[in-house]
Amino acid sequence: MKPGARRLRTRDGVTHTFDPGSFALELILSGGPPPWDRYEQLNTPDDAAAWLAESYLAADLPFTAEDVRVTKADLARLKDFRELLWHVVPGLIADAKDVPGIAVRRLSPADRGLLNASVGETPHRELDEQGAIRWRTPITTRQVLGAAAEDLIEIIGSDRVSRLRMCQGDNCALMFYDTSRPGNRRWCSMQRCGNRHKVGNYRTRHTD
Ligand SMILES: [Zn+2]
Repeated sequence: MKPGARRLRTRDGVTHTFDPGSFALELILSGGPPPWDRYEQLNTPDDAAAWLAESYLAADLPFTAEDVRVTKADLARLKDFRELLWHVVPGLIADAKDVPGIAVRRLSPADRGLLNASVGETPHRELDEQGAIRWRTPITTRQVLGAAAEDLIEIIGSDRVSRLRMCQGDNCALMFYDTSRPGNRRWCSMQRCGNRHKVGNYRTRHTD
């Protein structure tokens, strides 16, 4: 599976592949404030390193969990940033549904401060002895957060913000950045909500 696309398991036990479309949006999938903490993936710094090695950051140049440095304090910073995403991103999505347990807010001065303070460093690439590209390691959490902050700033500070979406499926609050060319992605995944919608339509048509 390509890094950045995640296998998710819903409460009703359906497994599907979901592509959040950007690294910042992907971070939301790693867990969240209650009741979303039941999906928590980042319980320890090692968990976070392993999660990052399968993320969008590794999409065109892989790295391993051992290449990433995450301390306990880093983990707390990652989760603070993630919490900001939970509260702010739904408010940027036209016709977003309510997200259970989340008080959605406009980007506050404190949010903007956290976002801007996260900018600065991003992961670096360099050449190895054979002249091939590689990551300069360790990749630090500060760099990871810098990448996430820049990603989010590029989206919400431009007309790309209109490409933020929430899945249109019933009871589905998955959020993504729509990278489709026509910009008409509606579902978290076809396997999950796209399919439920098709089946729903079929049933509607055949019970008339
Ligand atoms: Zn969905």
